[in-house]
Amino acid sequence: MQWVMVAAYVALLVAPLTLPLPGSSDYIWNNLARFVQFVFWGVWWPFVILGTALVGRFWCGLLCPEGALSEIASERGAGRAIPSWMKWSGWPVVAFISTTIYGQLTSIYQYPKPAALLLGGSTLVAMAVGARYGKAKRVWCRFLCPVSGVFGTVSKIAPLHFRVEPDAWKRSSNADAAGVNCAPLIPIKTMQGSSACHMCGRCSGHRGAIRLAWRKPAADIVFGSGRMAARWDTILIVPVLLGLVPAALHWTASDAFQIIRIWLVEQCVDVGLTWPLSLRLPWWMLTDYPSVNDVMNVVDAASLLGLVAFGAFISSILFLLPLVAAAAILRRTGKLIHHLAQALIPLASSSLFCGLLALTTSQLRSDGINLPGVDAARGALVILAGLWSVELFFRISSVYCRSLQQRIVATALVAIAIVVFCTAWLLMFLGT
Ligand code: SF4
Repeated sequence: MQWVMVAAYVALLVAPLTLPLPGSSDYIWNNLARFVQFVFWGVWWPFVILGTALVGRFWCGLLCPEGALSEIASERGAGRAIPSWMKWSGWPVVAFISTTIYGQLTSIYQYPKPAALLLGGSTLVAMAVGARYGKAKRVWCRFLCPVSGVFGTVSKIAPLHFRVEPDAWKRSSNADAAGVNCAPLIPIKTMQGSSACHMCGRCSGHRGAIRLAWRKPAADIVFGSGRMAARWDTILIVPVLLGLVPAALHWTASDAFQIIRIWLVEQCVDVGLTWPLSLRLPWWMLTDYPSVNDVMNVVDAASLLGLVAFGAFISSILFLLPLVAAAAILRRTGKLIHHLAQALIPLASSSLFCGLLALTTSQLRSDGINLPGVDAARGALVILAGLWSVELFFRISSVYCRSLQQRIVATALVAIAIVVFCTAWLLMFLGT
């Protein structure tokens, strides 16, 4: 199955490179480049996020072509020790921010060349890392993959996981059984939660102590791995998923983008600088497709960077201040803020999925296919996720504080931020 995925992945990346850019009479059903564009960005990206939220990281363990190729390279590779710099917990977040922004600057959702460069380049690096470090492992997936942080975060709300029964493990008479090759390097015996687990199933049944099991959705957040959340988990959720990503997905229709752009143009004109308005850079640096009237200049790029920075800043102010205040009300400081921020995972996940779904609906609309009620459904999903985040926050607060009054006040502060976010999200994405 993984080889089928690898073959499909390579074909979908390479085939559009050999074709001319689609015209106005090309549709998903009669043009391969348009079809591939829809498969990658209208189906794969949003529905892998949805699947991760519903059933965990099965995509990573069973289907991801990049992970499979990295592991295959690792089976035959040098097997060197993993360097300590590679284990820095900030890499997935930094890589996700970088690829998200680079993808927007090069219009990855519209054109096959940046898609092949970014996805294909990422796969080649994953194979190089596999060929050098670890033996039959997925070192790339565990420490460096740009979407591993997002998948790990979203999977915390999934109702399925591989459960380890410590008592059954101790009782097991199977102590001499061969160990399991957990490719993403998880210490299976002490596995907490499932955010790092790729759900490949290789350890299923090991020592009679591990099995695929149901759990209460988000129980992992309240009582499991959520308690171990740290700074980079919070950075990924608050400024990135709740700020930078909505801004990056919405910039073409954003009033704020236009305001920043006009201001920058005026500054350039005032000081007599014309090159930022006229300089064209190659397609692998900035969008450059004059044949279809789609060229991004330096001012456009700077405006986009300004917009995503603004989005990250606003979401940080909106959520971090109530989180700090709530932690103070619950009379705890330090890591509690990171655990409390985990309550925002349903909201961040739904915002990401529904934002990406805009790619699906806009591509279908441009081909004359309107899905009735889909915008209302997206709005409803974000609101329900917001309510779930409020409920989760209240449950997490019970771990640290017995006073109902303090818990209600702390939850109300975060609920206000969630209401503001949902309102802004509905106005921005649905134009209501
Ligand atoms: S913990 Fe088990 S199911 Fe999860 S990635 Fe490792 S071997 Fe696969």
